[in-house]
Amino acid sequence: MRYAMAVDTRRCVGCNACVIACKTENALPEGGFRDWVVQETWGAYPELSMQIRSERCNHCSDTPCVAACPTGASHVAEGGTVLVNPDKCTGCKACMASCPYGARYVHPDGHVDKCTFCLHRVAKGKDPACVETCPTRALTFGDLADRESPVAALLRSRRHEVSKPEAGTKPNVFFLV
Ligand code: SF4
Ligand code: SF4
Ligand code: SF4
Repeated sequence: MRYAMAVDTRRCVGCNACVIACKTENALPEGGFRDWVVQETWGAYPELSMQIRSERCNHCSDTPCVAACPTGASHVAEGGTVLVNPDKCTGCKACMASCPYGARYVHPDGHVDKCTFCLHRVAKGKDPACVETCPTRALTFGDLADRESPVAALLRSRRHEVSKPEAGTKPNVFFLV
C-alpha cells in the first residue's frame, strides 16, 4: 500500500475550503495549518501563467523529518503515511528544520503537528476531509500501489510534477499540470 494524493492545478480555484475542512476535522489550534493554498504567477505580461494549488505534507518516501527526529515521534505509518506521535514529541523542532516544505508547525500543546492524510477517516473507508470538501474535486486520495485506484489512473493519464524534486525526498503528493 502506498497512499498518495493528486492535486489538480487546473481545477483548484484557491477557495481555501480544504484548509477550513482540515482545521475543523482535526480541531487545529488558532494559527495552526496542515494544508494551505499557494498561488504562483510567472512570465511577463502579456505572456503570464498562473498556478493555484493546495499543499500539505508530501508524505515523502525518503523522509529527512523522520531521520532527524531524536525520539522516534516522527515515524512512517500505514501506507507510507508520515505521522507524529505527540506523546513522544519533545517539540525540539529538528523535523521542522529538516523538512524542505515547511509542512510542520508547533502545536500550542508543545508537540509538532502536520497532515496525517486523515488516516482516522481513511480507516473508516472515507476520503480525507480536504478531499471530501473540495467543491471542484481538485483533490484525489488513494493507494498508488493499486493500479485500479483513481489516483493511480490520474497519474497514468495526466502530466504531473512534485514540489522541489531536487530535495530528493520523493514526495507522494503529485500536482497535475
Ligand atoms: Fe483548491 Fe479545492 Fe482547496 Fe478550493 S478546496 S482551494 S478548489 S483544492
Ligand atoms: Fe517529512 Fe516534510 Fe516530507 Fe512531510 S513533506 S514527509 S514533513 S520531509
Ligand atoms: Fe488536513 Fe487530512 Fe487533508 Fe491532511 S489529508 S491536509 S490532515 S484534511
